[in-house]
Amino acid sequence: MSDSATGKSAALTFDLKARCSTSKARASTLHLPHGPVELPIFMPVATQASLKGLTPDQLEETSCRLCLNNTYHLGLKPGQAVLDAIGGAHKLQGWHHNILTDSGGFQMVSLLKLAKITEEGVRFLSPHDGSPMLLTPEHSISLQNSIGSDIIMQLDDVIQTTSPDAARMREAMYRSIRWLDRCIAAHKNPTTQNLFCIIQGGLDLDMRRECSVEMAKRNTPGIAIGGLSGGEAKSDFCKVVDTCTSLLPPLKPRYVMGIGYPEDIVVAVALGADMFDCVWPTRTARFGNAITRYGVLNLKHQRYSEDFGPVDEDCSCTVCRPKDDNAGLAISRAYIHHLAAKETVGAHLLTMHNVHWMLSLMRRARQAIVEDRYPDFAKKFFEDYFGDKGAPGWAVEAMKGAGIDLAGGASP
Ligand SMILES: [Zn+2]
Repeated sequence: MSDSATGKSAALTFDLKARCSTSKARASTLHLPHGPVELPIFMPVATQASLKGLTPDQLEETSCRLCLNNTYHLGLKPGQAVLDAIGGAHKLQGWHHNILTDSGGFQMVSLLKLAKITEEGVRFLSPHDGSPMLLTPEHSISLQNSIGSDIIMQLDDVIQTTSPDAARMREAMYRSIRWLDRCIAAHKNPTTQNLFCIIQGGLDLDMRRECSVEMAKRNTPGIAIGGLSGGEAKSDFCKVVDTCTSLLPPLKPRYVMGIGYPEDIVVAVALGADMFDCVWPTRTARFGNAITRYGVLNLKHQRYSEDFGPVDEDCSCTVCRPKDDNAGLAISRAYIHHLAAKETVGAHLLTMHNVHWMLSLMRRARQAIVEDRYPDFAKKFFEDYFGDKGAPGWAVEAMKGAGIDLAGGASP
């Protein structure tokens, strides 16, 4: 399926470009069926085959070349027959770049209270008409084959990392391995779509180790670390990522699912992770929040009503930079403040800015790894983003484990 000595699979090549000489951070290029993407990467979440408030052109303009679609939502609507008729999700949304889909299982378990997991699959009641339905590993893969996404995810048995039930956690971990085998057997397009396995095991590091080894044996083109961002302590999250990446083959992409905030990502990159996704940057934009170098600003606040500067001075997104053909005029914080409460355009503009900002953070992180100055990059990020508050304790501790002393400050 995949050659771990060269980083090549039938539909993917992982080209490792540079490693940080201090931490486990790495820079690479991932060649996918719809073009290359540079890692580490943040992938915005386009739940219904659209990023809320953005057209595909606007998403492209943020420089996004790999976004997420949700299998659960697309499977319900437009449904598999329509996806097959149009030829997949790229055609449905007019998007010629890469798409990653989840298995649909997580949405089901988190959105539908009555979902029940058995060895066969996830049983649930249709949110449309209440009829009983079953999502099996085979059905999840069949849906993702119809979607045609460049990266597809195995169906896994996900439970809250904070669950105290160790026996249930162990069952979920082993079941996820068995379900991976069923997904591999059911996958019809291994030469055009890349199936990623998902490591489970909650916060138990021994279970995570065992699962990492078992999953790596299945030799899928890429590997995900799942079940995190479920309310666990950040220090536990860091230990799980650190433990898994230490056991994974070096020439495969590592995707930490559902992460996260900028600070989570800067730390997880130092721990050896490459790919991240989260709804936060787009969701928070709809609440009037702008991500900036100096932290998150709520532009609905009255103090921005007469702030005529750009959302973020350092940002080069279409919202922040003055337009050449517009007499140098740019969109100001005051304008977004004015729109935020009454016009959806305010949310659209902030969504564009926030997605662009996250992608730009990842580009700068990558450049720092290539130039072997990731420790300084990370220190500067924490200094600017947290200001006088200082970096959170969990980040200081995790970065120290990776050889980076955040308390020491960046070199001049
Ligand atoms: Zn911007």
